[in-house]
Amino acid sequence: MCDPGPSSLPEDGRHSVAIVGAGLAGLSAASRLRLRHGIHATLFEAQSRPGGRVFSRQLQHCGHEFVIDLGATWWHGTHGNAAYELVFENALRRDAPRKEEESDRWNEGDRALLFSTSAIVVDFNSHVRTSRIHPRLSLSVARAYDRAIEALSDVDSHPLKTGDNDRSMRDTLERSVNYDALPDFERCVFQTLDKLECCWNGCSNSTRDMSTHRSSQYITLPGDNVRPQRTGMTVVVDKLLSSLQPAQILYNKSVTSVHWQHEQGPHLHFSDGSLRKARAVLWTPSLNVTKQAVKQQLFRPQLPQFKLKHLEQRGQGVVEKVFVLLETHLLDFVSDAAVPIIWLPAPPPATLSCAAWCKGAFAILYSAEKRLVSFWLNGDPALELSQLSEKQALEQVSSFLSLVCDQKVSVTSVIRSNWCCNPFVLGSYSYPRLGCSLESVDRLADPLPSLEKPVLCFAGEGTHPHFYSTVHGAIESGYREADRIAAFLTRTPDVGPTATDTPRRQEKALTSDT
Ligand SMILES: Cc1cc2nc3c(=O)[nH]c(=O)nc-3n(C[C@H](O)[C@H](O)[C@H](O)COP(=O)(O)OP(=O)(O)OC[C@H]3O[C@@H](n4cnc5c(N)ncnc54)[C@H](O)[C@@H]3O)c2cc1C
Repeated sequence: MCDPGPSSLPEDGRHSVAIVGAGLAGLSAASRLRLRHGIHATLFEAQSRPGGRVFSRQLQHCGHEFVIDLGATWWHGTHGNAAYELVFENALRRDAPRKEEESDRWNEGDRALLFSTSAIVVDFNSHVRTSRIHPRLSLSVARAYDRAIEALSDVDSHPLKTGDNDRSMRDTLERSVNYDALPDFERCVFQTLDKLECCWNGCSNSTRDMSTHRSSQYITLPGDNVRPQRTGMTVVVDKLLSSLQPAQILYNKSVTSVHWQHEQGPHLHFSDGSLRKARAVLWTPSLNVTKQAVKQQLFRPQLPQFKLKHLEQRGQGVVEKVFVLLETHLLDFVSDAAVPIIWLPAPPPATLSCAAWCKGAFAILYSAEKRLVSFWLNGDPALELSQLSEKQALEQVSSFLSLVCDQKVSVTSVIRSNWCCNPFVLGSYSYPRLGCSLESVDRLADPLPSLEKPVLCFAGEGTHPHFYSTVHGAIESGYREADRIAAFLTRTPDVGPTATDTPRRQEKALTSDT
């Protein structure tokens, strides 16, 4: 049905395209519209800063100044990576970052390597609290796990091509390592690997909710994983901002409704009571925010059934980062290498009590130079730590580190990301849920009411078919929609419903569920 809405709307020719969200998808779309197509777009951002899930913070500690990334940290692969190329325009020819941007490198893949030097084993049964090189530590499960993950990435080697045949990642991995026959200790190693896998893939508590399709859909770019360590990932945000006029972005401007079938053309309502007309709207918030928007009837009319169906097939879990500044150095502790934590199953005796979230920690990374410990948490443990007060977090993180590092650890401050509770993000990054169809992500990118008339468009990492969950996926999705909108606006002088666009025709376009 055509949305009648208010009878007259503010006209503003300069704001022909309205972009909801100034994360990487929104910024890249606005930049492309301006530089390539000469079209002015206005970005409406609910928060007081640009970048969305990219958020770098400058810290000073222990005589060092350094940057931490609370959101995205790595360029995953350098060749063909839109984010990397944006910063190093000629990166493909040079094959390396500029000297002044000297970056950390890290090779994804061999998870067994994580276990090759040391691991913390928290054993509540014996009276040995932790031991860093455990006599029972075997790499065989880790190697079997690695092989299983590798096999899953080879699309031809597994027949799971349709949603009907889908199996959860956890189920497939358990079968591959013969989980039921594993001794207890090896099962605990498996649990650690599973938490790590959840973290890499953005699912919450277990890979049980994740489809094995991830391996066949996601494309890993060639080249190392590279981190812009001097500037943090915000360098990508800054690069995009430099191509825009400051007045193009309005902050603290939360969109509360999108009327995309209004008889005078689409328009937006904001939490401050204002409203803005546009010729086309680009929606870029995360999948969880979009799901929430659907529940709150933000889209008027509601998104069509096919969108809702495909939206449900994608997940966006909780993955949080924790950075801990220490008062003193850790004694005799490996620096600059992730040390895995294996939790043995027995319930902790009172003397070794620790908060429930601790057992969600699967590895810690210590930098002796910065006197900094960092770790990641997924799912419920991440939620639990996010909800603590500063004081509680300080106390609990101190006792967690004292336990796993087997020494008294005094903490100066704890810096936590809080993506799960941020109402404009509501989670980390997207993944295909168990039972998802291979086409789901493509359909999420479909504009409304139709491909021929893209009035309400969708971008964001969750809409990229192969690079979802990444910064380069978000950027490419913004470019894609900018080109789509530009093609539409240049061939259509006005986007209000035409005489031939009867409500019946519009309804048909909306309900086509193929
Ligand atoms: C912990 C973590 C680690 C990560 N690590 C990596 C990594 O190492 N490498 C990598 O490539 N990727 C990584 N990612 C993923 C990457 O950060 C995202 O894929 C990317 O930043 C998403 O950009 P986006 O524009 O799609 O969405 P967002 O960044 O979420 O942008 C959407 C914007 O919309 C705004 N918004 C929401 N609702 C409204 C509203 N109603 N009105 C107005 N504005 C609104 C939000 O405030 C936000 O700014 C990580 C993410 C997280 C959370």
